Amino acid sequence: MVSQDEENAELGPAAGCLVSGKRICVAGAGIAGTAFAVSLRRLCSEQGVKPPQIHLYERDEAPDARGSYSLSVRGDLGGLQVLQRLGLVDALMKYKEPGDGFHIARHTFKPLVRAVDIPLPGSKLRAALRPEEQKAYLGVCMISGRTGPLEKLPPQIEAGQWRVMSPTGTGLFVSPLERECAQWNLSFRAPESLCAELNERFRDPKARQEYLDTVIAEKGKPFAEPWPTLLCKTDLSYGLSASNPSDKLPHRNRAPVVFIGDACHPMNPFSGSGANMALVDGLQLAQQLMDPVHRTLSAAVESYDDTSGPRVTRAIMAGRKNIALAHSRGWQQLKFVVVYFIAGWIVAIKAWLKGLQA
Ligand SMILES: Cc1cc2nc3c(=O)[nH]c(=O)nc-3n(C[C@H](O)[C@H](O)[C@H](O)COP(=O)(O)OP(=O)(O)OC[C@H]3O[C@@H](n4cnc5c(N)ncnc54)[C@H](O)[C@@H]3O)c2cc1C
Repeated sequence: MVSQDEENAELGPAAGCLVSGKRICVAGAGIAGTAFAVSLRRLCSEQGVKPPQIHLYERDEAPDARGSYSLSVRGDLGGLQVLQRLGLVDALMKYKEPGDGFHIARHTFKPLVRAVDIPLPGSKLRAALRPEEQKAYLGVCMISGRTGPLEKLPPQIEAGQWRVMSPTGTGLFVSPLERECAQWNLSFRAPESLCAELNERFRDPKARQEYLDTVIAEKGKPFAEPWPTLLCKTDLSYGLSASNPSDKLPHRNRAPVVFIGDACHPMNPFSGSGANMALVDGLQLAQQLMDPVHRTLSAAVESYDDTSGPRVTRAIMAGRKNIALAHSRGWQQLKFVVVYFIAGWIVAIKAWLKGLQA
């Protein structure tokens, strides 16, 4: 990512000396890449450092080339604080979806900054540079669809994201999209090969309709309203897609190429934290590169890995637990419910005791 002539050159202790006047190439103008570029520019301007030349390369030209869903940016994961630090909250507030959290449609959120120079072919960078770093399939197939505009958003979705599990091991999460539509994701345990087979099948509009009317209707039977309404209002002209939630624990980087966001640690959507991690990655990497304590690029990158690794690993493990919970059944499900019930009470009692002491 960063070009540097002499990796171990003796550098002065001034802030920003690792980046000032350098050329930095960012492959992917997604959330992590743009957060990094915006953060670095901002830190340089705040600290009076001559900014580096930053080139952002993006593969997809259409803003919603990869479909859409709404992302929740959260304070407990640090995403909201990054937006605040970068002065972006007000600008993004006008795109906020309904609900208590801060949900924004991905296609609105992604182009925070866009400065495309030349397109690069395919997303094969990690495969080429770190072929040993492979994603792990988590055993679940997720089918996603969306409704057209609804007369009124159901209260469960108006309140933010709606997540439900069923006694049959099927999971469902629905989020508001573009303020008047809903995007749903129905998931169930399946072999890895099913996803590719289904996407091939979904190319045919008739096959999509048939799958919705049979398999999705059957798997969704345990869910109460508003699910039947959402199913009925699903607009198949937006397509139906299958995906395999998968993830990978973060790897340690080797300067001068640094992987951040999903490129380093693909997150499964059940963690609900990939965009948050990507935002924090972007800011933390920029901070480390600006820190005068680091005399070499390798030292800055190592320090970035030390900070980001444990944070991301915790989020990935939480996502895996959510997958196990959402697709559990029988005794296993009962065990989860009891554990979560008791944990909820412990948290509530702790908060109550803290209140008494204050
Ligand atoms: C259904 C669903 C729901 C989710 N919900 C949430 C949520 O509620 N909260 C949350 O925090 N996260 C959520 N996520 C995860 C989140 O979207 C990702 O973790 C996040 O987008 C990762 O950001 P990124 O910048 O690393 O990657 P991306 O946002 O995917 O950006 C990568 C960019 O790089 C481009 N690119 C790839 N290869 C190349 C190349 N070779 N050259 C040039 N450009 C390239 C791509 O086109 C893309 O624009 C969800 C994901 C899914 C699928």
